[in-house]
Amino acid sequence: MRVLVIEDDASVADGILDGLTQANIDSLHVSTGAAGLDAMASFSPDLVLLDLGLPDMDGTDVCRSIRAASHTPIIVVSARDDEIDRVVALEMGADDYVVKPFGMRELVARIRAVVRRTSSTVAEPGTPRTFGALVIDIRAQKVMLAGAPIHLTAKEFDLLVYLSAEPGAVFRRSDILHDVWETTWYGTTKTLDAHVAAIRKKLGHPDWIESVRGVGFRFGEPA
Ligand code: CA
Repeated sequence: MRVLVIEDDASVADGILDGLTQANIDSLHVSTGAAGLDAMASFSPDLVLLDLGLPDMDGTDVCRSIRAASHTPIIVVSARDDEIDRVVALEMGADDYVVKPFGMRELVARIRAVVRRTSSTVAEPGTPRTFGALVIDIRAQKVMLAGAPIHLTAKEFDLLVYLSAEPGAVFRRSDILHDVWETTWYGTTKTLDAHVAAIRKKLGHPDWIESVRGVGFRFGEPA
């Protein structure tokens, strides 16, 4: 596995590179957004760790540029820990989001989970699921709304597929985290909320995924 690390803070980058080496993951470190975009072609990473605060470009623009050109999974590494940034990061195509400071064991686990998820999503045969104007084509990994394609990140897609398997059924947070994120780590509950918010916004109506207070979420066609 090859990981591209786009991070301008040398001490943070050193820690990440050491941890990746110990985990037997090849890595390349660059410290600017422009060098990161160059390395997408020359290094062809399996995953990108992207710092949002870069000297030459805003990390969000780097993320969008990568996403516009490829499906390479991106984990945003940020010092900014607030819900807005999480939502923005996930909306612009990142697959996961970690906040500094973080432990290397956690980061490596997240890297492996994202790569496993994005590379091994098994196509489920059968006809696309249709809910009114919404069509979820699992085999083609596509979502269409009123005939227009909706771009979801890999994780958003997985979550939508998971919830739409049983419209109207309430899925518990802990089950979603276990089944979709393959984790029970407490912090991911915020990630779950950010993904739900992103899907709602992309689908143009909050009622596609209804919050069930204290329990979890329910998928269904808006009334
Ligand atoms: Ca930085």
